[in-house]
Amino acid sequence: MPAPLVVAIDGPAGSGKSTVAQAVARALGLPHVDTGAYYRAATLAVLRAGVDPTDTEAVPTVVAQARIDRVAGRTDLDGEDVEAEIRGPAVTAHVSAVAAQAAVRTHLLAAQREGVARDGGVIEGRDAATAVAPWAQVKVWLDAEVEERARRRAAQAGEPDRVAHHVADLVRRDAADAAQMARSPDAVVVDTTHMSLEDVVASVVAQVRERRGR
Ligand code: C5P
Repeated sequence: MPAPLVVAIDGPAGSGKSTVAQAVARALGLPHVDTGAYYRAATLAVLRAGVDPTDTEAVPTVVAQARIDRVAGRTDLDGEDVEAEIRGPAVTAHVSAVAAQAAVRTHLLAAQREGVARDGGVIEGRDAATAVAPWAQVKVWLDAEVEERARRRAAQAGEPDRVAHHVADLVRRDAADAAQMARSPDAVVVDTTHMSLEDVVASVVAQVRERRGR
């Protein structure tokens, strides 16, 4: 039996990974695995425990005890749906500090891999193609100019006049995530600055079909 198809999509904050990965997964009939959601849920557990996100002893303990599940595109922490809360400003401000801890990454890697183990899937994050699923048959690095990423974020948040604030936030997070962010040498780079969502999705799906046709 051939190995299940895995498509790994990585890129900086606000590059559109989640939206693109969801649409590609739908188009190909594959599960979608959002690795960032695990780091966000782990961060919420840390904040709720009142632990300093940079504490390298307490944070891995809290994360090891947290039950994080992805159910139908939503995120549960200890049985509670926290999908909205993990996308909020408190978690976004601290997630890089939690994700920078090696013990946290090792712990969460297993659950992320499990998401694509049986049926394959479209997995997205910062290191999906290098650390989580380096065996992925298709690897994509999504990028866009920071002003464009910020414009999209501002529009999503319903605050189109706060582009400068979102530029600062994306620059801060990319710098904080630099150690985790790795572009696989065999990833196809897609600069989405001047592309519509439909064109980006079509380009990734075409890469998958080309790969399968070989
Ligand atoms: O993709 P998203 O913005 O939801 O990711 C939230 C955070 O999780 C990132 O800023 C990064 O700190 C961390 N992350 C990571 N490795 C991944 C995915 C996300 O370190 N594979």
